[in-house]
Amino acid sequence: MTRSNVAANAFEVVIGLEVHVHLKTESKMFCSCAVCYGESPNTRTCPTCLALPGALPVMNAHAVELAVRAGLALGCEVRERSVMARKNYFYPDLPKGYQISQYDQPLNARGFLEISVEDEGVWTTKKVGITRIHLEEDAGKSIHEDGVAGADVSHMDLNRSGVPLIEIVSEPDLRSAKEAGAYLRALHDVICYIGVSDADMEKGQFRCDANVSLRLLEKAGSDEFGTRTEIKNLNSFRFVEEAIQAEVKRQKKILEQGGAIVQATLAFDRHAKQTRVLRIKENAHDYRYFPDPDLLPVAVDTMQIARIRAALPELPTQKRERFQTQYGLSEYDARLLTASRELADFFEAATKEHGKAKSVANWILRDLLKLLKQHETDLVNLALSAATFARLIQLVEAGKITPKSAQEILPELAMRGGEPETLVAARGLEVVQDTGVLESAAAEVIAANPDAKERYLAGEEKVLNFLMGQVMKRTQGKASPAQVREFLIQKFKE
Ligand code: ADP
Ligand code: MG
Ligand code: ZN
Repeated sequence: MTRSNVAANAFEVVIGLEVHVHLKTESKMFCSCAVCYGESPNTRTCPTCLALPGALPVMNAHAVELAVRAGLALGCEVRERSVMARKNYFYPDLPKGYQISQYDQPLNARGFLEISVEDEGVWTTKKVGITRIHLEEDAGKSIHEDGVAGADVSHMDLNRSGVPLIEIVSEPDLRSAKEAGAYLRALHDVICYIGVSDADMEKGQFRCDANVSLRLLEKAGSDEFGTRTEIKNLNSFRFVEEAIQAEVKRQKKILEQGGAIVQATLAFDRHAKQTRVLRIKENAHDYRYFPDPDLLPVAVDTMQIARIRAALPELPTQKRERFQTQYGLSEYDARLLTASRELADFFEAATKEHGKAKSVANWILRDLLKLLKQHETDLVNLALSAATFARLIQLVEAGKITPKSAQEILPELAMRGGEPETLVAARGLEVVQDTGVLESAAAEVIAANPDAKERYLAGEEKVLNFLMGQVMKRTQGKASPAQVREFLIQKFKE
C-alpha cells in the first residue's frame, strides 16, 4: 500500500441528514391560501403569508395531524405540548424576517428508521436514530433570471411562503454516501406509504441537507466528531450521494494537507460534481430563537395520538416481513416487492387473481422490473392491470403460449394495454398443439443430424438440447419445449 492510500483510508465518514417534507394539506400552515405547485407567481397569497402588518397566524390542524402521523411511523415520542418558535434571519424569500419553526420543544423526538444496505448480494440492516421531527413553514422561492443588458434579475414567488413542512433530523449515525442514500430512500418510502406527502422531489416536496464530517479511524465509535459542513438543498437521491462523495473528497484533501475544516454551508454543483462554500456557518444562537407570541403551544392529547396510531397503514418493514411469512418469499424478493406501495399492491392483487405467489413474484422480479427499468418508468404509468398480468402468466402455465412469447407481448400490454388473449391470437403466438407439425419437425431435425441418436443413446444429454433448439426454430419458437423434448426422446427410442 502506498503512503497516500494509507492516508486516504485513515478517516471515518460521519453523516447526519436533515430532510424537509411538504405536508399534504389543502391549505397553508397559518392561513387559508391553497397549497399549489406551478400556479402563476404570487397568486396564492394573503396578508398572513405576505407578512403584512397586523396579520395573525392560525395553526392548520391537519398539518399537526400529519406531522404526528409521521412521528409515530418513525418511532418517535410525540409531545402532547410543543412550542412554535421564531427563527430570525433576513433573506428576500422570507418577508416576515423570521420563519415559524420549532426549536427546543419539537413535536416529535427520539425516533429511528431501519435501513438496509446491500453489498454484493448481502444485506446489512442498521437502525438510524432520528433526533427530532418538527413542524415549520416553508419560505418563498427566488427565481433568478438573466436580465436585459447583462443585468441579473431576481423575482420572488411567495406562493410557497407558509406551506407546511416537517423537518426530519437524523442523528449523525450514517457512515457512507451509500448509507445516506439508503436512509433517504427508506424515509421516502415511509413518507409515501403513510401518505403525509406526495414527496415529489422535482416539486421540492422532499429536500435534503447533508451534514458531513470526517474523523480519524481510531476515533471511530467514540463521541468525538470532526467539524461538519452542511450541503444545502439536495433534491435527488443521486445528488445526495454524489454531493457527499464530493464533500468527503474535499475534506480529506484539506485534512491530508494538514489543514482544518471550517464549519460552513455549502452548495453542490451537480455538473462539476463539486461542493463549494456558500457562507461560513451560522450557529443556532445566531437565529435568536424565541417562542412565537402569536401562537399557542401545539396541543395533541393522548386520545388523538392513539387514534392516529391506530389508523397507521402497514409500513414497508412490516410489509416485507409479512410477505416473507405469508407468501414464503425470500428476504431479498420481499425487499424488492415492497420497494414501493404500488408494487407491493400490484403483487398482492396479481397473486389473488393467479393463486400462486411464487409464480407472480418471479414474473414481476424477472420481467416486469426489467421492463420498468428499460423504459425508465414507474408502475403507475403502465396500462397493465394486476389481473391482466396474472392472466398472461396463466396462459404460459397452461401451455397456451411459451414464456418467450409472453415476454414478447408484455411490453405492449404494459405500454398500450389490451387483453393478452387478443394479442396472442393477433400475433399467432399460440403454442403449436398440432402433434403432426411437431412430429414432422422432429423427424426432419433428426434426419438432418444422423449421428444424434447414437450420441444421445450413448448418454450425451446435451445433444438433445441442440435438437430441441432446432425444432423450436422450425416452429418459430411456438412449440412447447416440454412437448418437443418428449417427441424427440420418443423418436430416439423408435
Ligand atoms: P442546524 O440547524 O444547525 O443544521 P440541526 O440540529 O438542525 O442543526 O442539524 C444538525 C444535523 O447535523 C443533524 O442531522 C446531525 O446528525 C448532523 N450532525 C451534527 N454533528 C455532525 C457531525 N460532526 N458530522 C456529521 N453530521 C453531524
Ligand atoms: Mg441544518
Ligand atoms: Zn396566505
